[in-house]
Amino acid sequence: MQAVFDDYVMAAGMATELVNTAPGVWHGEDQLPDEAALALFAGEYGLTGDDDVTAVHEVRGRLRAILDQRDPEAIERGASVLVTRGLGAVGLEPDERGRLQWIARPAAQATLADRLALLGGIGVLGALRALGPDRFRDCASDTCSGVFIDTSRPGRRRYCMPDLCGNRANVAAYRARKKASGGLS
Ligand SMILES: [Zn+2]
Repeated sequence: MQAVFDDYVMAAGMATELVNTAPGVWHGEDQLPDEAALALFAGEYGLTGDDDVTAVHEVRGRLRAILDQRDPEAIERGASVLVTRGLGAVGLEPDERGRLQWIARPAAQATLADRLALLGGIGVLGALRALGPDRFRDCASDTCSGVFIDTSRPGRRRYCMPDLCGNRANVAAYRARKKASGGLS
């Protein structure tokens, strides 16, 4: 695996997804409780490696602390620490169209937690530079404590997991309206 600096959208998406697997964010339970869940999660991003769930939980906690920040310097400081932890080399390599792009390669001895830290850190730094700190947001759902990085083009995302929190908020609003109008017992 190597992280392409320009592909911060995928990396920032991973950071958001990882942070929101934490207990209490959505279902109440840890969504990365064991090695099997971790392997599945990492596989979605082309990552394999050791199954140190505790180390990944620690990286998840660090990413959460960064995504809770709204000050650009604090975000950058936190993300830089994550990137350097797993970093082996930085270099230029051609993409599929032959254009050179900056890549970050993890160190040979980097653990899965290190690789997730590197990828997440790249996502945070890229989103911060390309889109700005106001793209780091709290989930708009009353019942969700998730956070996210909005990398969408219009930048109007409101929920950490739009399919889940967005729908739940819509259903709650619908029920409230119905109840107010006496249509739902
Ligand atoms: Zn949410």
